[in-house]
Amino acid sequence: MAERPASTTAKGPADAPVVPAPAATPGVTQATIVKRSAPKSDYKPADVSPQRRVQRKTYTVRLWAVRNSRLLEWFYARFADVFLLLHPVWKGIGYSRVEAPVKFVEKRVKGFMFDCRMCGQCVLSSTGMSCPMNCPKQLRNGPCGGVRANGNCEVEPDMPCVWVKAWEGSRNMAKGDAILNIQKPVDQSLRETSAWLRVTAQAAAEREQSKAGANA
Ligand code: SF4
Repeated sequence: MAERPASTTAKGPADAPVVPAPAATPGVTQATIVKRSAPKSDYKPADVSPQRRVQRKTYTVRLWAVRNSRLLEWFYARFADVFLLLHPVWKGIGYSRVEAPVKFVEKRVKGFMFDCRMCGQCVLSSTGMSCPMNCPKQLRNGPCGGVRANGNCEVEPDMPCVWVKAWEGSRNMAKGDAILNIQKPVDQSLRETSAWLRVTAQAAAEREQSKAGANA
């Protein structure tokens, strides 16, 4: 009598159905294979990722920002200087008091320009003005291995990979090589806080420390 082939499943019994490994088909991404093998039910969530469910469906402004990353880098440097000049004002009023109005403006301006997700630890100047929080995997150091041949995301097939765009944007910038720096994981406790105020307060503290060091 012919021997049965050994099961290749993790369940163990020799009569369990043998599930063949999905064949690697050119153009079929890992995300597609995972999606196809997911349990089927009547509920199909709208759209393909949490970001996509809450944000607008065009990337026109975001892509404009990447194309004009050099201009925005220059502008942001001036803007940061003005914010730092105003440090005595922020400090006089109280950073905690100005947080709400500043955050209100920051969220709308950066939301419009970059589809900002208000992570509170802005890295746009290191990522070619392409916000990494728009990556469906929220990679702070990308890209992943799933970029499609046309440069689009494997999870959101009609969205250009934010890390491909980050690289393109960084090539236009004076300090674009900052993209090579490894970014820390996102500190979730800083979500929905103002990156503008944080950077300003840190720069003011550093300036005061160096003044104190020079006078010592
Ligand atoms: S890196 Fe964070 S703060 Fe900067 S645009 Fe993206 S979500 Fe907003």
